[in-house]
Amino acid sequence: MPDSAEPHSDAVRRLLADDEPAPFTVHRPDAGSPFFLTCDHAGRLVPRRLRALGLPASELERHIAWDIGAEGLARVLAGRLDAWLICQTYSRLVIDCNRPFESPTSIPLRSERTDVPGNRDLDAAAVAARREEIFLPYHRRTEDELDRRAALGRPTILVTVHSFTPVYLDEERAWQLGVLYQRDARLAHALLALMREDGRWTVGDNQPYAVSDASDYAIPVYGERRGLPHVELEVRQDLIADEAGQREWGERIAAWLVEAARRAGLIQVGDAPALAGAIHRREPA
Ligand SMILES: [Zn+2]
Repeated sequence: MPDSAEPHSDAVRRLLADDEPAPFTVHRPDAGSPFFLTCDHAGRLVPRRLRALGLPASELERHIAWDIGAEGLARVLAGRLDAWLICQTYSRLVIDCNRPFESPTSIPLRSERTDVPGNRDLDAAAVAARREEIFLPYHRRTEDELDRRAALGRPTILVTVHSFTPVYLDEERAWQLGVLYQRDARLAHALLALMREDGRWTVGDNQPYAVSDASDYAIPVYGERRGLPHVELEVRQDLIADEAGQREWGERIAAWLVEAARRAGLIQVGDAPALAGAIHRREPA
């Protein structure tokens, strides 16, 4: 059963109404493996009080609002890897959960070529409400889980799951996959090598994006500062737009992740029997 929390039960809520969904969902809360998954851009909801941010519905279905296919992919990965997974419910246009507050795109005024009218001229209370009711509960739940695992001495391998648009500002992207990291390449380099050894895919090395302290949250804050091995994964959206694609890529990537973690010395196969199926599963030709 997914769990979710009251976003702000001890104070007056200014943003989310009582009948609106919590800002996160946890899948597989009792999962047993070292893999720990986050999906910052899983959802595309906008709290009713924000009146769709002044955007037509068509804009809120595009990649600017969310990572198309990423939640489905992350759920397949969580199943294959026996991994804990947290998904953000609300659109990154409301507040981006993979940006520090100081980033100018934390609450973006523009994304690709779309201006976001509902993000213009926000007062301090409006900004605080988005932080307190959407960003912070999601990250507190993640931190609590990481603290709990640390207290139990459980190993954690952080994988953040994202997807990217095939065409951005008229530019076509050749990569199917991107492997992103900053200061700690233990898992990322092993994963990149495996994906390239497969021979079928164009894999970006810190492409189409690179991780930085200024533009990212999960990798610097959870991976680097806590010293947890990690990787940020990017998959092109057309490959995982439907369930069949999410299953195909989820199974393929799960097997790569297990083998990459083994090669990087982060897991021993004998320590993780639940993962063996992912390792030994044969790839379709
Ligand atoms: Zn993303």
